[in-house]
This record gives sequence, C-alpha cells and structure tokens, in this order.
Amino acid sequence: MAFTKILNFDTENPRTAKRRFKMRGLLNFGYALTTLIISIALLMQVMPAWMADVVATGFVMCLYFAFWNNRAIKIRCPHCKKMIRCNTPWICSQCGSKNMNVNEFPFLNRCENNVCGVEPKAYKCHHTECGRLIFLTDDEQQDIYAQSVGIKVEPQIAKKEKDEKTTLHEEIQIKKLEVHKAVLGVQLKGLNESLQPPPKKLTAFEELEAYFKGTMANDVAEKEWRAIIDATFPNDKDKRERGHAVVDQWMKNKV
Ligand SMILES: [Zn+2]
Ligand SMILES: [Zn+2]
Repeated sequence: MAFTKILNFDTENPRTAKRRFKMRGLLNFGYALTTLIISIALLMQVMPAWMADVVATGFVMCLYFAFWNNRAIKIRCPHCKKMIRCNTPWICSQCGSKNMNVNEFPFLNRCENNVCGVEPKAYKCHHTECGRLIFLTDDEQQDIYAQSVGIKVEPQIAKKEKDEKTTLHEEIQIKKLEVHKAVLGVQLKGLNESLQPPPKKLTAFEELEAYFKGTMANDVAEKEWRAIIDATFPNDKDKRERGHAVVDQWMKNKV
C-alpha cells in the first residue's frame, strides 16, 4: 500500500517483520485516517457533510476492527518463496511452550510464557517441503526459533538433557561390557591352565641335579657380588659391611 511504501517497508521481508509488527498500531492509525479523509471527501459529493462524516466514520471503524486491528504480518520464505502469515500458532524452541494467543504474542513478539519470554530470532518454515530457518534478525542466530504447533518440536533444554542421559547410558553400557570382557578373560585363562598337561614328575637324579645347580649358582652369585661390593667401596668400611650383610641375608633366604 502507498502508506507502507512511503515508510519504505518491504511488506514481505522477514528482516523487517518485527519492526512492522511493532509499528502495526501506528500504521493502522495512518490507514484509518487516510481512508477517513478520502471517504468524507468522496461522500460529500453526494450527501450533506454531517452525513458524510457519520457514514465515513462508520465505514472506517468497520474496516479497522474487521481487518486492520489484528491483521497478520506476512513474510515470504526466502527458501521456498512461499507466504507465511505470522499469526500462525507457534512453539518456543527454548521452553517448548505453545503460543496460541497469536494476536498479542505472534512469533514476531516474544514467548507468552513469562518464565521464558525469549524473542525468537528465526521461524522454521512450516511448508512441508521446506522446513528451513527463516531469520528474523541480522545476527542469524539458529538456536532460538519458533516452529508451527503443527510440527512436532523437541525443546532445546529437554533435548540437551536427553542427549546427556543418552551419553551417560552409553558410557555405562560400555563399562559393563568392559567388566564382562575382563571376567571372561580370567575364566578363559583358568580354563587354559586346567587343560594344560600336568608337569612331568622328576626322577630323584633330576631333582638332585636341579638342586645342586641352583645352590652352586647361588654360591657363584654370592662370590661375584662380594667382589663387586669390595671393589665399589674400597675405602668405606660401613658401606662394605652393609653390602655384605645384604648378601648374607639373601643367602639365608635361599637356604
Ligand atoms: Zn520455506
Ligand atoms: Zn519460551
């Protein structure tokens, strides 16, 4: 309309929709005044002035309350190019509230839930083949948006909690599987050991041979370590004695 063109409003641009909503009262007043003046001027051509005033006023009031007062702001989806009327009942992405009082709280305003009260920064196109976000502000924030009540929506807060629970549940399942795997590993080891053939029984000769070799090896190790201790601490009697005491104890343990 001429009046909106004078104010340089693009009547379908989503980025100007919030401004158009806020200016709706002023625009309605402008429409009404312009229509009233033109109507009176035309009617005065065919009837007395007082009658023209009455008829024109009644006509404008009908127009005001029937059409202009709660007229829906329109936007055009930049993706599917289809029209959207902003009096569509909507769901808040933050709290999940349904906003049905769309004359006062369309998605161009704010969430009707006073605890939440966020202003959606975008509207998710309700045309089924589209479903993309239509940004209402220049910052193009994606996580605070409105969506038609006709489309199932999962509130962001609830979704976050659900994601956290799912992650925790998955972690618990993984831990359970790890414990089960460890238990199975122990059981498998026991089973393998039980399947091994019993150790071969040594003859008396072989037993003595093993004992003899072990004892002789101990004696050799003792002599070598005592020589190392004497060579390492030639001028420190205390350390030599402590070293030899360690070797004595080791030899006792071997008896
Ligand atoms: Zn669309
Ligand atoms: Zn909300």
